[in-house]
Amino acid sequence: MAIARSPLYCWRVGEIEITRVLEFEAALFEPAVLYPEASPEIIRKHRTWLEPALMEPACGLLMFAFHSTVIKTPRATILVDTCSGNDKERPHKLRYHRKNWPYLANLGAAGFAPEDIDYVLCTHLHADHVGWNTRLLDGRWVPTFPNARYLFARKEWEHWQVGELRASYTTDPYFEDSLLPIIESGQAELVATDYAFDDSVRIEPWPGHTPGHICVLVRSQHASVVLSGDIMHTALQCAEPQLNSCFCVDAEMARVTRRRFLETFADSPVMVIPAHFPTPTAGWIRSHDASFRFHFDR
Ligand SMILES: [Zn+2]
Repeated sequence: MAIARSPLYCWRVGEIEITRVLEFEAALFEPAVLYPEASPEIIRKHRTWLEPALMEPACGLLMFAFHSTVIKTPRATILVDTCSGNDKERPHKLRYHRKNWPYLANLGAAGFAPEDIDYVLCTHLHADHVGWNTRLLDGRWVPTFPNARYLFARKEWEHWQVGELRASYTTDPYFEDSLLPIIESGQAELVATDYAFDDSVRIEPWPGHTPGHICVLVRSQHASVVLSGDIMHTALQCAEPQLNSCFCVDAEMARVTRRRFLETFADSPVMVIPAHFPTPTAGWIRSHDASFRFHFDR
């Protein structure tokens, strides 16, 4: 597995600093597996611009990054999405199984100790967004960020409470090792999907990929950024918004939300930071023919 490049990327929104902290980045998904509705013609049509940065030419796999985004405001340090984690038992998701990523070293290189994080926020509660909620210490799963309040959207939390719904996603014990210990430590807080930290940082409901999926909006007088979670997994979904990933819970709502998101932010100055776009990750949505393209911040 090719592990990539600089783990650190930094952007500024007025007084707010936004830093990407990489867990890992690799050519990972076969397009037809990630997007079951993508015909070979669709893939062929876009291959020229997907290669080489977004699709590995030799193997045809789509590039994926797993990263957290740290939002440091003058008042609080908020860590969004906690990747897949170390030492987790994921026999059905081998890309996350018993890993030993230098994630905490990367976080340290960005200037943050686990103790510095005031809030942890998950755009949704899939296994690759909650992993570093906890770490293994003396055989027990303990919160990685000892001083943080962990904010989960109530709607999202309630969906994944249901064992059968969890089982239709995976039978790996991510709920037990990455979510329950946060409840038990008393650090979890269930919030509405339109929760606001203050005037400059708030969340918004963008459901479909999961029922309580949220995006995070960071705004200053002169610049805005939106952390878009898994509304799109790759830039191919800007060009083909009807393509759902195999992980989307509500297919119809995921499509409607993705199109609404693209229409909302297309040709606007708002920078988009998706949860899985490879380095350099951030960019802007631009209209292109009757659809859209993602212009990376190079
Ligand atoms: Zn994800």
